[in-house]
Amino acid sequence: MRTYFENINADFTCKHCGAVVSARQGLSGVVNRNHCPYCLHSRHLDLFEAGDRLSACKALMAPVGLTLKKSRDKYAKQSGGELMLVHLCSGCERISINRIAADDDPKKVLEMFEKGLGEMRGFIMRCERENIHILQTGDRWLVHSRLFGSDFIERKEEMEILMTI
Ligand SMILES: [Zn+2]
Ligand SMILES: [Zn+2]
Repeated sequence: MRTYFENINADFTCKHCGAVVSARQGLSGVVNRNHCPYCLHSRHLDLFEAGDRLSACKALMAPVGLTLKKSRDKYAKQSGGELMLVHLCSGCERISINRIAADDDPKKVLEMFEKGLGEMRGFIMRCERENIHILQTGDRWLVHSRLFGSDFIERKEEMEILMTI
């Protein structure tokens, strides 16, 4: 188990699926690897900012949806932002927004997104109040292209499989 005194980039065991997660930046592409790439669950460890590890909560945070990172440029199109994971804490219901890491399983991300559609009315309304726009059915194409579009040639087969489901 990690403590305040350990390196925040140390490998850890996922509290949800039990996988051993490597926190090396080379694999994840992110500085603070804060969720499991296999099941996308996280833990409520940070209090004020990413990586501070000051939260007393420590409960499991479930991936519940996707949003787009807000651009600092107010003229940028809303669809231009980076795709982000939305986590909800099972202990204190805090919402947190996290970058998708390079080694996160895109099929899991898509699966989580699809599963959340249409069954989170109350949560979506809460997010809107907190100025977080949860992506919906109408954003499906955007989500697909962000997850599978950049290296489309290699992922073409996976894409075709997904499209037939
Ligand atoms: Zn996991
Ligand atoms: Zn919490």
